[in-house]
Amino acid sequence: MTRKSWTHEGVCWVAGRKRTLPETIEVTDPADGRVIGCVPRGGVELAREAVDTASEAFPAWSRRLPRERGQVLKDWANRILDHRAELAKLLSQEQGKPVAEALGEVETAAEFVEWYGEEAKRISGEVLPPAKENQQMTVLRQPVGVAALITPWNYPAAMVTRKAAPALAAGCTVVLKPAKETPLIASALFELLMETNLPHGAANLVTGDAASIGDTWLGDYRVRKISFTGSTGVGKELMKKAAEHVKRVSLELGGNAPALVFEDADLDRAADAIVANKFENGGQMCNGINLIFVQEPVREELTERILARVKALRVGRGTETECHVGPLINQRACHKVQALVDDAVNKGARLRYGGEPLLEGEYSNGHFYRPTVLTEVDDRMDLTRDEVFGPVAPILTFRIEEEAVRRANGTPYGLAAYLFTRDGGRIHRLTEGLEAGMVGVNGTSLSFPQAPFGGIKESGLGREGGLYGLEEFLELKFISTMLD
Ligand code: NAD
Repeated sequence: MTRKSWTHEGVCWVAGRKRTLPETIEVTDPADGRVIGCVPRGGVELAREAVDTASEAFPAWSRRLPRERGQVLKDWANRILDHRAELAKLLSQEQGKPVAEALGEVETAAEFVEWYGEEAKRISGEVLPPAKENQQMTVLRQPVGVAALITPWNYPAAMVTRKAAPALAAGCTVVLKPAKETPLIASALFELLMETNLPHGAANLVTGDAASIGDTWLGDYRVRKISFTGSTGVGKELMKKAAEHVKRVSLELGGNAPALVFEDADLDRAADAIVANKFENGGQMCNGINLIFVQEPVREELTERILARVKALRVGRGTETECHVGPLINQRACHKVQALVDDAVNKGARLRYGGEPLLEGEYSNGHFYRPTVLTEVDDRMDLTRDEVFGPVAPILTFRIEEEAVRRANGTPYGLAAYLFTRDGGRIHRLTEGLEAGMVGVNGTSLSFPQAPFGGIKESGLGREGGLYGLEEFLELKFISTMLD
C-alpha cells in the first residue's frame, strides 16, 4: 500500500473522473483562519451532469449481484482504514476537532461501510400467505433509484459514509454534496471509493454552491430520494421542495438533548459521561447534551464534579496531541455561543467557569471558546430552546420526576435524551416517556452501525444505521400472481 498524502486541493468526482473548475471555494483552518485549500465551486451544470451519470449507472449497479455490491463496500472500508491516520489529520485540519476524535470518526465511518457491505447480500423480499386459491403474494425490496445526499460539517466523514454506504448497498446510485466548510475529507473518501470496482457514475461528489446544487437535485424528477443531515431550518426548506416530485425524504436535523440526573445516580459516572458528551467536537454535536437537569439534593455535588472535569480540559489546535477541545467551526459560531451565554447571565444564570472566547497568543486568529459551566439556568433563557452548538454546560434543577420529564419534553426537538439513575422502575418509565428518537441510560454513546440513529418531532424523519437505514433506500413492491 502506498501512503497517501492528501493535497488540500479537493476535487469533484463525476462519472468516475476527477473534476476541477476554474472557480473555487476556499477552505480554512478554524484554528487560525488560514486558507488551507480549495474545492471546485460547482453549480447547476455539474450538479445536473452528476444526476445524468448517476441515472445512467443505476440499471447496471442495481442489478449487480448483492454480494458484489457488498464487496465494493468492504474494499472501500479497508481502504479507509488503511489511510485512517492521514484522513484523520485532514479532517482535523479543516474541521478543528482533536486528531484523536477525528481518528475515532474515520474508524466509525469505515465501520458503517463495512457493516452495510455485509448487509448488501441479506436484502430480501417476502412471500405472504395467499388470500385466494392459486394465488401467490410476494413483496420485493428494490432500490429507490438515484439518491441525493447532503451532509454537514460537524461529522464530515461519518455523515458521508452513513448515507452513501446504505444507499450503495441497496443498489441506489448517489450524488453527494458535502458542507462547504469541510469538503476535503469528502473528496478524499471519494478518491478511495473510486479506487474500488464501483462502476463509473454510481457515486458522484459535487462541491460548491449549496442552493444551486440542492435546487437542481430537488427539481430533477430522476432523483427519487433526498437524505439530508443539517439544521432544522434548511431541512424544512428541502422537505417543501421535495414535495414537487414527491421524493422520498430522510432528515437528520438539530437537537436540544436533555440529560436528567437523579439523586440516586452514580454522580462520578454521570459527570464523566456528561462532560465527555458535552465537550466532544467542542459541543458541536447534534445529539450533544444541551441541558443538564439535576435533582435538587445533588445539585452542588454534580456541579462540583462537572467543574473539576471541565477545568482539566485543554483547548487547542486539533492536531496538537494534548488537546481536548478544538476551535469552533467559524466566528459566527463563537458569536452565537457568546450571545446565548450573555442572555442566560443577564437573566440570572451564574457563570461558574469560562463564558468568553479565547483571543490571546496561540488562540488569537482562531475561533476558540473557553469551556463554560453555567448554573441557576431556567426556562426563560434562550439557550434552553436553541441548540447552543458550543462548549457550554448549562445546569438546571428539578424537584420531582414528572417535572423533569415535562421540561425535558417541552421543546420542538426530539433527537436524543439521557438519563442517569439506578432505579429500574424509573428507567422503564422514562425511556418510554421521554420524547426522543434515542435515549442513553447511564451513558451517552448512541451512534453504532447496527442501531437506528435519528429523531422525532422537528429533529427529523427516518433513521440512519442498521437495517432501518437500509430501508430508507428501498421501495416495497407487492406482486399478486394468479397461478392458473
Ligand atoms: P446546515 O443546515 O447549514 O448545512 C447542512 C448541509 O446543507 C450543508 O452541506 C450545506 O451546504 C447544505 N445546505 C445549506 N443550505 C442549502 C440549500 N438551500 N439547499 C441545499 N443544501 C443546503 O447545517 P450545518 O451547520 O452544516 O450542520 C449543523 C446542523 O446539523 C446542526 O443543527 C446539527 O444539529 C445538525 N446535525 C444533525 C445530525 C443528526 O443526525 N440529526 C447530525 C449532524 C448534524
